[in-house]
Amino acid sequence: MSSPILNKRIYHLAKTLHNKKRFPSYVSGAEYRTTRKVAKSGDIKKEDFVLSLERSLAKFGELGDKYAGSSIGFCAETVSANRVLQVHPTRFNNISIGKVIRPRTMQFGKKCKICNSLF
Ligand SMILES: [Zn+2]
Repeated sequence: MSSPILNKRIYHLAKTLHNKKRFPSYVSGAEYRTTRKVAKSGDIKKEDFVLSLERSLAKFGELGDKYAGSSIGFCAETVSANRVLQVHPTRFNNISIGKVIRPRTMQFGKKCKICNSLF
């Protein structure tokens, strides 16, 4: 269960991007205890993935390839989870994913299929 603090930060990032008319597909966030990270989809380089996450993502295909409508590893949830894992190398099921928001419309989206199975 994600905390209200995390979801507030996600909303704030989405709103800021919305107001600046900068529209990544989605914004989301991840947390482990008090470590909270928010991110835009696509905001990661291939070399920045932590090994454990990269290995799990490899089950779905190559990083960046399409899987069930999302780009493997580059959705906002994975990017933020990766940032949490860089600080706390914990098990994925200890990580909570927050709301997913589309900055263009400020509507909520769904966690992608990969994130649903990982976190
Ligand atoms: Zn995802």
